[in-house]
Formats: sequence, structure tokens, C-alpha cells
Amino acid sequence: MDVSVVLVSRFRLLPDPAQEAALLTHCAHARFVWNLAVEQYAHWRQGRTAAPGYNDQCRQLTEARAAFDWLAAGSVTVQQQALRDFAQAMRNFFSATHRRPTWRKAGVHEGFRQVGVMPEHIRKLNRKLSAVSVPKIGWVRSRRSRAVPGGVRSYRVTRDRTGRWHVAFAAVPEPIPAPGTGETVGVDRGVAVSAALSTGELLRCPDLSVKEAERLVRLQRRLVRAKRGSNRRKRLKRAAARLRARAADRRKDWAEKTSTDLARRFDRVYVEKLNIRAMSKSARGTVTAPGRNVRQKASLNRRILASGWGLLAVRLRHKAPGRVDGVNAAYSSQECSVCGHIAAESRESQARFRCVACGHEVHADINAAININNRGRTTLAARGALQPPGGAVNREPQPESPAA
Ligand SMILES: [Zn+2]
Repeated sequence: MDVSVVLVSRFRLLPDPAQEAALLTHCAHARFVWNLAVEQYAHWRQGRTAAPGYNDQCRQLTEARAAFDWLAAGSVTVQQQALRDFAQAMRNFFSATHRRPTWRKAGVHEGFRQVGVMPEHIRKLNRKLSAVSVPKIGWVRSRRSRAVPGGVRSYRVTRDRTGRWHVAFAAVPEPIPAPGTGETVGVDRGVAVSAALSTGELLRCPDLSVKEAERLVRLQRRLVRAKRGSNRRKRLKRAAARLRARAADRRKDWAEKTSTDLARRFDRVYVEKLNIRAMSKSARGTVTAPGRNVRQKASLNRRILASGWGLLAVRLRHKAPGRVDGVNAAYSSQECSVCGHIAAESRESQARFRCVACGHEVHADINAAININNRGRTTLAARGALQPPGGAVNREPQPESPAA
């Protein structure tokens, strides 16, 4: 499944002890199959005969199930899906957005995916609990911290290092209809703030509080000194992971709320053109001219996608398909949004813009957002001018420009 078009919402899973044992068996099988695939690829180098593809691996899985009773006793869909996940991970690796899939360790990477989920596989028990049907196990209860989204096609069950179970439902999100007011907005990926709007709003993506951030630094410092394999080290690691997960949850939450708000309020949203795909390509290079600093660039791409801004841009495109345009933002931070004068000196500080030509004063990120909105509207008007006079306006959702 293409991860870029799905909405993932995660809930705590509450298995009883017997179910937990059965879930761990599913995880062990998925891990076994995954690691088998990693092994097969480990011996493969560019230029050699082709590594086994998904179909070959499926055949090998059938043979393995015939050879091992314990594997055959498990769920074939769980095991097959692990292979499909691995194939996806290899595709991600080749497009330089992810690292090469690696060996999965017991206790660290515990999880499996289930596909072909139907509405009747998820049940609401009461206001606080749902239940999800898991193959070979049956109904497992999950916390219902919010509504389960409609259109769930698959889910992933995971156990984190602290022993907590989660189920993440993947659904194809419903687009939000445009308000039809003709209102547009420019969004600038600010430095001082997470995002600035041409309307003058400054949006801050929540992060850890100062106290929490200090605690994380302290934990990491102590972690360096803790002895390998000690219980103390495990405890510290767990505490640091919890803090990082909290920060990630806050970023996700913010991106969800903000993208919904923007999709509802504006007919068109203009954002800075960030050509992540092209960046990845240039990083990877080609067979004859391999890219330089591949790992660093891939890691930068990952960081952009995981930042509050990256999440916001991605979710915005899901919720307002065809209504989000990437705009060339070159010099948008140096251009005066009132008189159009471009000068580096106008950018007084990180947050302050004062035009050296007309004296206009404004928050630097908002100035850039207004420029982005103006450029977007100009581009759209130019595109409209190319349409034949009297021609019908195409109201169908338009494909996004590939570079956006
Ligand atoms: Zn000016």
C-alpha cells in the first residue's frame, strides 16, 4: 500500500495474557520471515543475478511452512504480509527515503500487519473500548481514545520496548470539501515559528516543554555512562523513548488539526515547493553516476518528512487533494510583500522584516507567506488565462504538480 495516501490512527491494544502470548507468536513469525528476506538480500550486490523477488520469496515461504510445523501453525496472512512489508521497505530504500531494511530483533521490533480488513472486523464495545479481530486469536480489546476512522483497509499491531501494545489502523482519508469562497492562503515554513500564514497567523508545532527537553538531555547523558546490557540502561532507554514518542504524538496531533482547519477555510493553499522526491533522486544518483552523501541526504529527507512541517504538508495534500500548490519560494523571504523590492538587508533579523525601499514592517515569516500566496495566485491566474475563452472550468480534483 502506498503510505502517502493513508491515514494512520493508533490506539492502545489491551490483550489478556493468553492473547498477548498469541500476539507475540504472530510477531515472532513475522520477524522470522522478515529476517529470512534480509538474509537473502544480504548476499546480493549490484550487478549480480537478480535477488529473489516477492513471488520467489512467497514460494520459499510455502516451502518453509511445509518444513517447520511451528511456522505452519501460524497465520499465513501475517507471514505473507511480512514479505510484502519487506518488498515495500526495499522500494523505499531504492528511492532513498529510508535506510536499508535490517535484521529485526526480538523485544525491539515486535509487530505484524494484517490486510484485507473489513468493517465487521472492528467493533465498538462502549464509549471507551473497541475490539479488533485478529487472525487465530479473535477479538482483542483496544482503547477508544477517539473514533476509529472509516474506510480502514489494514492495521499494524506493535509492541514497544516498554511492553505496551498498539494497533494502528490505516484508512484512506476522506477529502474535505473546499469552502467555495475563493479564499486562498500562503503558508511559509518559518524558522522562528513552524508555519506562518499570509493571513498573519503564526502557527507553532508543539514540542517537548523546556522541562521535558531538559529531562531528555539528562537521560541521554546518563545513558552514555550506563553499562551495556544493564537494567539501568534499559530503564533509561525506555524513559527516553517515552519522551520522544510524546513529542511525536504532539507533532502528529498538531498536523492533523492544522491541516483540517486549512482545508476547511481556504479554497487553495500555497506552500513552498519542496521537491522531496527530486532531492531523494539527486541523492541516490544513477548507476553510472552514483550520488554523493547519499546517507546524509536521505536522513535529511526523513527529518523533513517527520518534522511538524513535513507532516502538515503531507496531511494537507490528503485532505485537500488538487487544492494544494507548490510555489517557487526563491527570495520570498527577501522580497517586500507591499512594494516588491528585493533586498537581503530588508531581513533585519530572523523574525523581523523591514523594507529598505518603502519602510514596510512585518513579521518576516508572514511577509514570506504573503509572497507565497501572491505568487500562487499569479500562477493560477496565468494558468486560467491559457484556457480557451468561455471554456468550462474543470472542477474535478486536479493531479498535483509532480514537483510540488
Ligand atoms: Zn517595500
